[in-house]
Amino acid sequence: MIRVHDALPELPFRPAAIAWLHAWGMRVDVRDPRSATGGGFWWPDRKLVDLFTTQAEAAIHEIAHAWWHPRRLEGQNAAEMIVATMKLSEESDSRYARAREIAGYYVYGIPSQRDDNSPTGWWMGQLVGQGNDWECYAGLASAVMGDIGKLPPYVRRFYEELFDEPTRG
Ligand SMILES: [Zn+2]
Repeated sequence: MIRVHDALPELPFRPAAIAWLHAWGMRVDVRDPRSATGGGFWWPDRKLVDLFTTQAEAAIHEIAHAWWHPRRLEGQNAAEMIVATMKLSEESDSRYARAREIAGYYVYGIPSQRDDNSPTGWWMGQLVGQGNDWECYAGLASAVMGDIGKLPPYVRRFYEELFDEPTRG
């Protein structure tokens, strides 16, 4: 657990990972420290985590984007993240139910969710058309709120350096 910014709650990141991100040049900005409604951006060109509020879910999501940014191009990491997300969408172990549900949305989309930019008129997920390891990575991080015990080992391996050890339970 570490406090990444004065306005944010403690978050389940490894202090060494946050130190690495700061040394790399990551900055964190919180636009409205009195609100916790969420939202934010990761701006790669400025290495800026731009949080609208203090919400933990948004902070975990955008900081996961920052961490993945240089790592996705190492070896075959980007493709391996997509393969792991597809495998996770078929995971039968109930300990990973929440992560499986989110992975299912990424793979299959949500036919009931309107998307005017989609050729079908509904949201087709993260993989059809152009595979998006970015959102698979950051989205699964915030789906389990950084508790990597809620990810099976073949997905957890992408997060072990970034987040605290899984809570036992
Ligand atoms: Zn994102």
